[in-house]
Amino acid sequence: MMAQAGRSIAEPGRKTAVLGEYEVVVLGGGPAGIAAAAAAGRSGRSTILVERYGFLGGAGTAAGLSNFCGLHANVHGEHRQVVHGLADEIIERLKRIDGINAPHISLGGKIQAQMYDMDAYKIVADELLLASGVKPLFHAVAAGVAMRSDNEIDAVFIESKSGRAALRGRVFIDCSGDGDLAHWAGAPYELGDGAGNMLYPSTKFRMANVDPARALGARELIPKLMEEAEKKGRVFPRRGAIVRQQRHPIEWSANATLIKNPDGSAVSGVDVEQMSYGEIEGRRQCREMFEFIKSAVPGFEDAYIVDIAPQIGIRQTRRVTGEYSLCERDILGCASFEDAIGVNGWPVEAHLADRVVIKFAPIPQSRGFNQLPYRMIVPKRIDNLLVAGRCASMTHDGHSSARVSGPCFVMGQAAGTAADLALEAGVPPRALDVRSLQERLEQEGTYLGKDM
Ligand SMILES: Cc1cc2nc3c(=O)[nH]c(=O)nc-3n(C[C@H](O)[C@H](O)[C@H](O)COP(=O)(O)OP(=O)(O)OC[C@H]3O[C@@H](n4cnc5c(N)ncnc54)[C@H](O)[C@@H]3O)c2cc1C
Repeated sequence: MMAQAGRSIAEPGRKTAVLGEYEVVVLGGGPAGIAAAAAAGRSGRSTILVERYGFLGGAGTAAGLSNFCGLHANVHGEHRQVVHGLADEIIERLKRIDGINAPHISLGGKIQAQMYDMDAYKIVADELLLASGVKPLFHAVAAGVAMRSDNEIDAVFIESKSGRAALRGRVFIDCSGDGDLAHWAGAPYELGDGAGNMLYPSTKFRMANVDPARALGARELIPKLMEEAEKKGRVFPRRGAIVRQQRHPIEWSANATLIKNPDGSAVSGVDVEQMSYGEIEGRRQCREMFEFIKSAVPGFEDAYIVDIAPQIGIRQTRRVTGEYSLCERDILGCASFEDAIGVNGWPVEAHLADRVVIKFAPIPQSRGFNQLPYRMIVPKRIDNLLVAGRCASMTHDGHSSARVSGPCFVMGQAAGTAADLALEAGVPPRALDVRSLQERLEQEGTYLGKDM
């Protein structure tokens, strides 16, 4: 966003009340933040999680995803769940309230994903945090930091209906998806591909009152119908669409939009004016795609839009530069790392201006997953900060794989556990003995992928 030239207002200095002092402060309640806060909380650390919405799940609920990707890998041709630890507990809790499907085949049969009910996920995430002794602070937008020194954060400022306040912490974990905390603290980062070009966002919607028997096969049929319509001159926002039955068979979700600025660039998730434009354009595209599906696809004649996701789905903004950046070569070559904190089996899934490009590690020749190194969640320059989830240290291409839910759970759990161990050892997270972290993660059920 461009501030108007020559126009600014000098704000008076002020004293801000300290709302609380915590050993661990987590920003963001997506998969990374849920796992980070739960791991720190159950280690006995006083932990607060700050979230701008009134519910958890991040893009998994706020952007309407309803589908865990990246929990599984194609291991020499066999589908296997490879992300464990807190992810297992979330799945178990979802099963108990009938909120999750068995894994299904995705991306042309090469990998599995797992569909969940979004409201069940919100409830399960609440329960997990409370059971772990974490204090969730909802409806609080983080708005800046106070620094203790050039490389240490003292407090995060929040804005809410109760006014401005500060939360002091000893270790901070940035799980905002956008690297907000790291950015304010002065950690280095790249935006999009480094030249500002980001993966294109999408607004998701769900349709209800679909006739499940007649809609059978709609997933394959819809892209074909779109192709035929394109040959006759119709222009869709993107090539192909992923339209899939949900947990309840009369409900189908559509990932069928692609949100561009009028100049063709991707709408930026860290530009408030572009986001405002994008929300409206996203809803317009949802309506347009819904009309097409309703008129052309058997089983959808009486369907209606039951919801458009509360917010545009942002795939990529800031990637905070850490001690190592996970890259496409690591994904396609199933890389191993001495400081592994878990694994990722999702392929590279690049959302370009008009299409989605998918690249897998060789199947069935390879083990189908790469390890994730601790160094990718340790940012440069700031000593009491860890960065987990889609804003962790990855190249633009590496990010197209490891940004999905499975690896975000892995990074979050490792960050929360590392915060505890670093506090216990009295060292900054970057100086942590990684073997002690690996031991703890394995004891708590994480699969590090060391046996293959
Ligand atoms: C359209 C779309 C479809 C996708 N499909 C899938 C899929 O099917 N399966 C899958 O696994 N992944 C999918 N992904 C990717 C995946 O959902 C995300 O990359 C993942 O949720 C990232 O997790 P995270 O915890 O890093 O961040 P997020 O999920 O983005 O969570 C960040 C949280 O931080 C909060 N926050 C941010 N800034 C602030 C602030 N300043 N103050 C307070 N709170 C703040 C946000 O409200 C949010 O809750 C998709 C993404 C998109 C955009």
